[in-house]
Amino acid sequence: MTRQIHRGSILHFPKASLNPSEHYQYWEDGVLVVKHGLIAHLGDAKDFLQAETTPLAQLPIVKHQGLIIPGLIDSHVHYPQVEVIASFGKQLLDWLNTYTFPAEQQFIEAAYARGQADFFLQQLFAHGTTTASVYATVHPQSVTSFFEAAQSHNARMICGKVLMDRNCPAALQDTPDNGYYESKQLIEQWHKNGRQLYAITPRFAPTSSEAQLAKAGQLAKEHPDTFIQTHLSENPNEVQWINELFPDYSDYLAVYEAHDLVREKSLFGHGIHLTDREYIALAASGATINFCPSSNLFLGSGLFNYQRAQANGVSVALASDVGGGTSLSMFANQADAYKVCQLQQTSLSPFDSLYLCTQGAAVAMGIDTQIGNLNVGSEADFVELDMQPTPMLSQRLNKARDLREQLFAINTLGDDRVINATYVAGKQVYKKGQHYVATAV
Ligand SMILES: [Zn+2]
Repeated sequence: MTRQIHRGSILHFPKASLNPSEHYQYWEDGVLVVKHGLIAHLGDAKDFLQAETTPLAQLPIVKHQGLIIPGLIDSHVHYPQVEVIASFGKQLLDWLNTYTFPAEQQFIEAAYARGQADFFLQQLFAHGTTTASVYATVHPQSVTSFFEAAQSHNARMICGKVLMDRNCPAALQDTPDNGYYESKQLIEQWHKNGRQLYAITPRFAPTSSEAQLAKAGQLAKEHPDTFIQTHLSENPNEVQWINELFPDYSDYLAVYEAHDLVREKSLFGHGIHLTDREYIALAASGATINFCPSSNLFLGSGLFNYQRAQANGVSVALASDVGGGTSLSMFANQADAYKVCQLQQTSLSPFDSLYLCTQGAAVAMGIDTQIGNLNVGSEADFVELDMQPTPMLSQRLNKARDLREQLFAINTLGDDRVINATYVAGKQVYKKGQHYVATAV
């Protein structure tokens, strides 16, 4: 691939920060140079062009009217649940039985799974998301179909086969041994195959026996650089159920700890109803909580205490949790995160919330040398935002006095309409108004 030069306003967070409002980089007129799918240069446009020896007319410059930011990261989402997004009237445990489990049974067919994977990826790109940590179903072919679809776009994705051996329909059950061997095969086939990464995926403790959790922990030990993804303390009835199913453990997290599932690269969805001990243990382990505000509001699960997590030093990454969540847009989820924090007397800065779905998520997940920022050497996953997407947002942005106000308006009012173009490894995979065509690399 030849060199591409993208010129426009550019914003990103170059490093890990506890105060992203003060640690962002912004160029009103910047350039981002892409070579072989990686970022080869980032900086001020005029400085770059002055130093450039190639005649200006020969430079392959793409001019962007909108704001360039890193590709967004959705750290917890279920691709088989996209078709049950916006389903009425249930809280977590009834939601699973009524909507999720019937939908997931269709993924026994690889062709069905591939169709849904293609649709899901197309939707992610249309919403500006270039990396997601994705739950498949219990069927190994649902993972294969997903990774094949992701590989066809050269997109960096994380996915895993759900492990469930009890408390779910028989059609969705595996066994401790089958789950172990199928996961192991998928790890060997897909983990670090191109840009794909594997996540060992026990759905949550109630749907796995202790024997299965132990096998998941064994896998995690045998493959220490894989991710682990599961759910933790989402709903009060679920926490009560944990107490009944696992009476010997002091709390929910202790069940996972006892089975070697709490470590760096462990991603715990929700973490709403945690004890003091669980916050401290999560921080000490280096694990991450996925803050899923739209899902938590929609399913009536509760309010994630972002301030308390931060005060305890727990890593946090923002997530949609679709289909419990109501939007794949990480902007819509930033808007909901702001409201969840407001209900707890905290105003979440727009820089903080953008950080939580770009560099902050990448740092928490240990992949910030690859994605999450626009640093030289990082993979060229980025998004151009449309700064005039709707009459309402256009007027609001025109009245904004500074970048912070602009960003807050985009976060609060934005959805897929604010995405003008999405690039994966330097290649455009989505452009507003153009019919999407899937192309193999
Ligand atoms: Zn979830």
